[in-house]
Amino acid sequence: MEKIVILTGAGISAESGLGTFRDKGGIWTKYPLEDVATPEGFARDPVLVHEFYNARRVQAAAAAPNAAHQALARLQRDWPGEVVIVTQNVDALHEAGGAREVIHMHGTLAGALCGACGHRWQAPEVMNTKTPCPACTRPAARPDVVWFGEMPYFMDAIYDHLAGCSVFAAIGTSGQVYPAAAFVHEAIAAGARTVEMNLEPSAVVSSFDETRFGPASRIVPDWVDRLLEGRA
Ligand SMILES: [Zn+2]
Repeated sequence: MEKIVILTGAGISAESGLGTFRDKGGIWTKYPLEDVATPEGFARDPVLVHEFYNARRVQAAAAAPNAAHQALARLQRDWPGEVVIVTQNVDALHEAGGAREVIHMHGTLAGALCGACGHRWQAPEVMNTKTPCPACTRPAARPDVVWFGEMPYFMDAIYDHLAGCSVFAAIGTSGQVYPAAAFVHEAIAAGARTVEMNLEPSAVVSSFDETRFGPASRIVPDWVDRLLEGRA
């Protein structure tokens, strides 16, 4: 049974109204990344960082999955082998689209993490610098998202999946954030066929066997149809 590993990035959620890192006018461009997506930024101004993620949590909760999320859920359901979805996104749109198992390598907006004791729990809608940890009671809550300079989650499991995959697809990722940008090389070493699907070519596009460019809501369902019909 062929295992498919799919890496998704912000580009798959863009058509659901959630901006990407580098979009002009997107939520990210109003705030410097080093202020809102690094441990140093949080240490410097935790009020600003909490406000930023509180706003993103509200925005993500109001977003609906698009045809690309739904197509990947269909692939997971109908493919005779395993389909592993690894996402860099902190939204829950894969799950909302029907995906069963999703590896959130950069954490989730729905999660809270205690900076003091490491306890994890479901984030309240609004978090602030006084939000107590349910385990140690210290007011050290932070979003359970992986910031720049921090180690992504589940890396051992992801590398195991990549080492055993026959098909690797990267969807809507810029290819500029490591280690995810290097997953294609792991997949190639495993002998996998590789495909990039993106609005525009990523920084690592030349590594892929096949490329498809266009809106994710169009090219991803098309790719899934082809796979399930044995044409890809
Ligand atoms: Zn704690």
